[in-house]
Amino acid sequence: MKDCIFCKIAKGEAKSWKVYEDEHAYAFLDINPVSKYHTLIIPKKHYENIFDITEEELLKVISVVKKVVSLYNNKLGIKNVQIVNSSGAEAQQDVFHFHVHVVPRTLGDNQNIKWTTHKEWRETFDDLLAKI
Ligand code: AMP
Ligand code: ZN
Repeated sequence: MKDCIFCKIAKGEAKSWKVYEDEHAYAFLDINPVSKYHTLIIPKKHYENIFDITEEELLKVISVVKKVVSLYNNKLGIKNVQIVNSSGAEAQQDVFHFHVHVVPRTLGDNQNIKWTTHKEWRETFDDLLAKI
């Protein structure tokens, strides 16, 4: 993809702070970090998001997620991370090259992922499942 910033990063054509790479995937620091070592892991090939990435490529990316988390655990003692992917504009995806965020978390870091829950929707579960 000609104008994709993450394609350019994977090819070394745009600046990035590399954490790790192998034949299929590339890990680098997020340029707008929400915590120390906030990292993105991408496939080197362009896929928009979870809907078009192949299962084979996804497994390769997730395997690098595990490597990066192990590296941070072993070298830095990091023991708390959030692993996030947004797929689709309405799911708050901003860069349309598949990526997984690894966000180390610490007590008092002033970050907070807070979902609004709807217990009352339990009564719709049977109907929801009947549709798939
Ligand atoms: P998302 O909202 O999940 O699509 O996240 C996109 C992420 O990419 C954001 O956290 C951005 O800070 C990050 N980002 C955008 N451009 C770059 C870049 N050139 N280098 C590193 N991270 C970037
Ligand atoms: Zn791309």
